[in-house]
Amino acid sequence: MDVSKQTREDKEPRAVEDLVIIGGGPAGFTAALYAARAMLSPLVLLGQAVGGQAATTEVLENYPGFPEGVGGMALAQSMQAQAENFGARMQLEEVTAVDFAVRPFRLTTWSGELQARSVVVATGASPRKLGVPGEEKFIGRGVSFCATCDGYFYKDKDVVVVGGGDSAIEESLFLTKFARTVTVVHRRDELRAGKLYQQRAFANPKIQFEWNSVVEEVLGGDTVTGVRLRNVKTDEERLLKADGVFLYVGLVPNTQLFAGKLELDERGYIVTDKSQRTNVAGVFAAGDVQDPLYRQVVIAAGAGAIAAMEAERFLAESEQA
Ligand code: NAP
Repeated sequence: MDVSKQTREDKEPRAVEDLVIIGGGPAGFTAALYAARAMLSPLVLLGQAVGGQAATTEVLENYPGFPEGVGGMALAQSMQAQAENFGARMQLEEVTAVDFAVRPFRLTTWSGELQARSVVVATGASPRKLGVPGEEKFIGRGVSFCATCDGYFYKDKDVVVVGGGDSAIEESLFLTKFARTVTVVHRRDELRAGKLYQQRAFANPKIQFEWNSVVEEVLGGDTVTGVRLRNVKTDEERLLKADGVFLYVGLVPNTQLFAGKLELDERGYIVTDKSQRTNVAGVFAAGDVQDPLYRQVVIAAGAGAIAAMEAERFLAESEQA
């Protein structure tokens, strides 16, 4: 047996896919639905966080078609099932490297290499960290980025939520179902969150605010016991007791894989045109990974649909060329 040949073949990529979608959130699943209906048999590489940011939201009240709201995880699962019904294939694989300089494109995953004629990048965004002492140490022991996942553990406890955007206020409201008090720590004296959320938060007796304040340190022993706050106007510091700290200070796009491979803006988002095209022909991007402005589930889904339609057009044109 020619061992050298066998080794070489083992390293050869699997069959060439027409379309690989990287990421299993609303953008990726909608791209998969459209591509499947276009008979492209897309392969979705789900990565680790199936459902994306949407799946960590208890209830989405602004996704059209659901007058009573819809659970974030339930919506993501329905989107996945709908795409699968039309023939999209899903794999729980994480992409670890991409090569967009060769044709077909090459993607390295946990389990080997793939080749793809076109790619939709829908890797989403992840919660931003504060970068203060104690934050990393207490992740999973009192520091959380997901109230939907961890809120239950804070029944009758006191929690701190950091941030003033939609996520911070939406999740503060959710946490009042369990916690005794929710203290929102915000670096300004005005919330960024939408007016409806603001109204609800100001009316909720369990929610209080620490305005013009930032968390300088997360404190604790085995688990979190509080935070050290600094008032940014007076520079005064004080300790606030808390059993849990929920961080909602924005998102960072998941584009580490694409640095030097695709054009990114100064904040790290993938640059696309209105047709979701990146600077590499045949590579499209959709959802939070390329949207620093709106970051809404409905917009991510729409962008996913566009990306798939453009991928279909690209493949048809490449065949004719
Ligand atoms: P965001 O809108 O970027 O808000 C981040 C918040 O964290 C802001 O209040 C910001 O303060 C604060 N912040 C940022 N860096 C900080 C730091 N280092 N220290 C302290 N505070 C810091 O992020 P988001 O709330 O996660 O929302 C992300 C996107 O998803 C937004 O477009 C939002 O509209 C959308 N979203 C929508 C819904 C909904 O429609 N139901 C729900 C959730 C999220 P400043 O205000 O001073 O900048």
